[in-house]
Amino acid sequence: MVDFSTLKAIQEKLHEAGFKLTTQRQAVVSVILEKEKDHLSAEEIFLYVRKKDSGIGLATVYRTLEILTDLHIVDRVSFTDDGVALYDLRKAGAKHFHHHLVCENCGSVEEIEEDLLLDVEKLVEKEFQFLVRDHRLTFQGLCKNCH
Ligand SMILES: [Zn+2]
Ligand SMILES: [Zn+2]
Repeated sequence: MVDFSTLKAIQEKLHEAGFKLTTQRQAVVSVILEKEKDHLSAEEIFLYVRKKDSGIGLATVYRTLEILTDLHIVDRVSFTDDGVALYDLRKAGAKHFHHHLVCENCGSVEEIEEDLLLDVEKLVEKEFQFLVRDHRLTFQGLCKNCH
């Protein structure tokens, strides 16, 4: 599995797929790497990117995020009912997408790296002859500060 925790790894992945890491794309990737723990919307990424490169447009940010999503460098997630897409970096060497704990009170999002669903995947593959490639798991509730 590719490690996407560095700019170089992401650059290689882009090159493999025939994309260049232009200065503008690099600005977007840098923001995602710097804010790895956050889950940012395209607009929020745009605001950070503007601080690095004031000439960059929102359309370029969207296009870059599209490419990064297609290449599975980032994933789109959504934790709210309005369905605003947030962008989340795939973790180094992660075979599955990490799980999320979303607090309904303060809105904090915590990540769980270990895969809690290995047994469930085996069961699904056996019972439904469904080849599982990935899964999403989000727990809604109250974080330790809120309950
Ligand atoms: Zn996450
Ligand atoms: Zn909370």
